[in-house]
Amino acid sequence: SGRLLVVGAGQAGVQVASCARELGWAGPITLIGQEPHAPYARPALSKAFLKGEATVESLVLRTPSFYAEQGIDLVLDEQISHLDLSGEEAVSASGRRWPYDRLVLATGAEPRPLPIDGADLDGVVTLRDVRDAGVLAQRLAAVTDLVVIGGGFIGLEVAATATAAGVRTTVVEAAPALMNRVVSTTTAGFVETAHSAAGVQILTGVRPRRVRGEGAVNAVVLEDGRELPAQLVLVGVGARPRDDLARAAGLACDNGIVVNEHSLASDGRTLAVGDCANLPGPSPHPALRLRLESVDNAVEQAKAAATTLLGEPRPYRSVPWFWSDQGPLKLQIAGLARADDDIVIRRGRPGRMNVLRYRGADLVAVECINGPAEFLLLRRALGTGVSLPREVAEDTSLSLKEALG
Ligand code: FAD
Repeated sequence: SGRLLVVGAGQAGVQVASCARELGWAGPITLIGQEPHAPYARPALSKAFLKGEATVESLVLRTPSFYAEQGIDLVLDEQISHLDLSGEEAVSASGRRWPYDRLVLATGAEPRPLPIDGADLDGVVTLRDVRDAGVLAQRLAAVTDLVVIGGGFIGLEVAATATAAGVRTTVVEAAPALMNRVVSTTTAGFVETAHSAAGVQILTGVRPRRVRGEGAVNAVVLEDGRELPAQLVLVGVGARPRDDLARAAGLACDNGIVVNEHSLASDGRTLAVGDCANLPGPSPHPALRLRLESVDNAVEQAKAAATTLLGEPRPYRSVPWFWSDQGPLKLQIAGLARADDDIVIRRGRPGRMNVLRYRGADLVAVECINGPAEFLLLRRALGTGVSLPREVAEDTSLSLKEALG
């Protein structure tokens, strides 16, 4: 046992600290986070919180008394700025020293910046934490035109909320389809049609050239010369892992802190979990490396990492899954897809669709729109390797329940 130090008090950090305690870690546990708020869940920041239907208090991951009850010393508003791995000590920006016996890095990710002129103008914002969400909500209430740069999950969620609130919204996506690389073009097309019908202007296959304004933004100029009026610009072009501390300490990093299936970094001792970690792929893809940005991954990887800390390591191999709520669309995806996978489309009632992705004879990923029951069945099938032959999946006279029967 000894002293356990967890750097980063987000979804993964809280999970690893609480699981370590639950599994019997006897020594002191310190959980350090640089934000001023008790640890909270981020998904609602681009959904309910923006609509004014949630507060940071309602999003907390654990009740305020939990940490004291579990003997977890939660330290907020404290940023770790240096790691001394051989001296087993972390150092705060304030100079405070945190000696440890085991260290877990759970530093998350941060919005990728947009390298174009004008990206530093007032009114150009990103969304990662509750402070960003507060700024975004306040500004949304005061503008008529929003441009979202990047047609990924967060951008589309915000676009749906803004449009519903009466803000004229345009999404600019450089790739030919929305949510590029993560979902099939069929699903992307379905989502695009739904957003367009709701009044969001979607522009794909075009890049922004610069953001224009005097002090504050007033337009986004596209590479094809078009100009979009905007008093607010949300940059949602993806996230990059917060791996600088680890990199400076000499741990191998490559799009995240490189870890093995036991969440151990290249020194064989430090652990990394959540959005900041670069993981081995699940079997049968162990050669693949991936970095996942989802609540499920943060929670499940952290649970497995706690078993490493307790000396009975359970390898982490899970079927990745993710959800995104975009206005009336609930999109749920699971598995590891490739662009060249074949697809089987199962349309349900209007407003619903399930897309099954096959590689050869194998079901490798699923994408469900407004089909939570089907998603549960399909996700389970992916996880347990239950076979769903393509001919059976294609037979829409059978329900999925029957097909998987
Ligand atoms: P984080 O939750 O980011 O926590 C990391 C914490 O570490 C942060 O609080 C950070 O401030 C702190 N930290 C970093 N460096 C230091 C340091 N040096 N010292 C001290 N503290 C530090 N996932 C889904 O599955 N479904 C969704 O619908 C969904 N929606 C999302 C919407 C938004 C707007 C965002 C931003 C994310 C969303 N996600 C969603 C992703 C999900 O929230 C993340 O995958 C998850 O939060 C990852 O957890 P984490 O602990 O790795 O990182």
